[in-house]
Amino acid sequence: MEMDKLVSLCKRRGVLFQSSEIYGGLNGFWDYGPLGVELKRNIKEAWWRDMVTGHDDIEAPPGAPEAYEMCGLDCTIIMHPQVWKVSGHYDLFVDKMVDCTESKKRYRYDQVPGRWVEAKGQKVFVTTLAEANHAQEIEARALKFFNLRAKDAADLAWQGGLVSLAKIDPAEYVKVLAPEAKALGTLTAPRDFNLMFKTIVGALGTEEDAAFLRPETAQGIFVNFKNVLDSSRVRVPFGIAQMGKSFRNEITPRNFTFRSREFEQMEIEFFCHPNSSLQWYQYWRDRRFRWYTEMGLSGERLQLREHHQDELSHYSRGTADIEYAFPFLPAGEFGELEGVAHRGDFDLRSHMEGKLDPNSKPDLKVELGEDGKPKWKGSGKDLTYRDDITNERYTPHVIEPSAGADRATLAFLCEAYHEDQAPDDKGEMQTRVVMKLHPRIAPIKAAVFPLVKKDGMPEVAQKIYRELKKRWNVFYDEKGAVGRRYRRQDEAGTPFCITVDGQSLQDQTVTIRDRDTLKQWRVKVEEVSAELAERLK
Ligand code: ATP
Repeated sequence: MEMDKLVSLCKRRGVLFQSSEIYGGLNGFWDYGPLGVELKRNIKEAWWRDMVTGHDDIEAPPGAPEAYEMCGLDCTIIMHPQVWKVSGHYDLFVDKMVDCTESKKRYRYDQVPGRWVEAKGQKVFVTTLAEANHAQEIEARALKFFNLRAKDAADLAWQGGLVSLAKIDPAEYVKVLAPEAKALGTLTAPRDFNLMFKTIVGALGTEEDAAFLRPETAQGIFVNFKNVLDSSRVRVPFGIAQMGKSFRNEITPRNFTFRSREFEQMEIEFFCHPNSSLQWYQYWRDRRFRWYTEMGLSGERLQLREHHQDELSHYSRGTADIEYAFPFLPAGEFGELEGVAHRGDFDLRSHMEGKLDPNSKPDLKVELGEDGKPKWKGSGKDLTYRDDITNERYTPHVIEPSAGADRATLAFLCEAYHEDQAPDDKGEMQTRVVMKLHPRIAPIKAAVFPLVKKDGMPEVAQKIYRELKKRWNVFYDEKGAVGRRYRRQDEAGTPFCITVDGQSLQDQTVTIRDRDTLKQWRVKVEEVSAELAERLK
């Protein structure tokens, strides 16, 4: 599937719009249209239902060491600034960026691919911002730079494969052709760029009033750990879930909604005994992977990638990414949908004691500032847990499955897009665009049509529509040829179309048409709701 087709369908059918489009748009911000908002809500609701409210806390699910409880939270986007100092985001949540003195553009250096090439006795690192066909783009730029024609491409001596600018020693930046520059050596040395959006709380507007928009929802859960323990009857092991907006001032937002500056996360912090934390990690990794497959992401485009030992922070006993082969990525590359991390007691201990130094081996120690005092103080509150049966007191370990609602939505959209051949109103085969979304997440569950706008058919159809509307988001349409109406619903991913025709008036049956198989069958009017309920499961 070509990404352009999906992007244009999203705009044409009201799934996604560029934010503030009438003013030229704002890079990295996206609005969900009438269809998109339903799709994303359904995804979030499916997640909440499957992970939280629908979770059976009496019996251990397959693969889990024991039964566990789940509950939810909804925390604020702006929190006490100390939260981010202690969590490490204030000091460490940075990307390296480089500035181009010619184009005045700023780039994240690990996201600028390029390749060394030599011609006319000069060696140059040619970069590109192209999202696909990197090799072609780089060759075109190299030819232009060396003043060569396409037929002289053989004069370009390539050295090594495609690597990111992050792999280039800044001392060699004099030989770099920046993505939007004509001259060499226009990039500045890489600098840290904090990704948190800053804002001011209160009227004084001084630096002491600076606060941050949360870059993740997780911290709200950690700082409420004690509140949840004290106000509910949960016992370890248990999980707290939260979904909501997060903000990151990404240097190069791109790939549609994949890397946005405002996005939604769906996160769980699962608290367990240190002795069983590895088993819980494995359970959550597999459970979360399975969730995507249950919701319709196919095997070959979805993968679970366990991080290598040397990729892990030393307090972590495992991290895995659930990844999807998005069509905008080069062949064979995957993009992260969700990270599942074993975080040990790092977060709770940090909020108790102060910012822990993730590099202090073998045990985590509070990080000291230049004055030898703790760099950022913790809350000083006791965030340990006492098991009232064994009387043991400990700091629970945390497993964190952290997903993005927008990336999940994008993956489901990519997976759903299909083109096939189907007969039109005249019986001629035409290319049909159909979004094969899982019925649980489809924005519209069913559409109800009168075959024609006369003979009492609209009245029957409207009655069915109103009945179904009590339970689901259904759509009524009486305009135009019925084949055209089917096509519009196929594009919207509506799993079923219900049509009232001449026979309906005789025998009180209607046809139901299946979006994917195109099969039609007749059902009694009074059984439509039950039939739909069964098929939408
Ligand atoms: P990446 O490496 O792609 O920037 P990350 O590892 O920083 O992602 P996490 O901090 O683990 O991401 O965030 C958890 C989830 O939140 C990600 O798996 C992703 O689904 C989502 N997410 C993170 N950053 C963004 C973003 N800029 N736009 C959309 N979703 C995001």
